[in-house]
Amino acid sequence: MKKINPQSDLPSLEKGCWYCESSTGEQVFSKEFDTYLHLKCLINQLSENPEDPEARLLKEELEAVILESI
Ligand SMILES: [Zn+2]
Repeated sequence: MKKINPQSDLPSLEKGCWYCESSTGEQVFSKEFDTYLHLKCLINQLSENPEDPEARLLKEELEAVILESI
């Protein structure tokens, strides 16, 4: 039986979160890293590891979106 899920139009590889690899919930797209991610995963990463260079670049790119979401 085929499951109907209107949110699964895109291949899961393209939609999985950079950090948790889940494709559930609302994600943002980073052009810099060509990947989707959850803002909350990025915020978690930054609070656990503030010096993480990837997370810092993502934060710079997505700062406006992050500010809107809090
Ligand atoms: Zn995630």
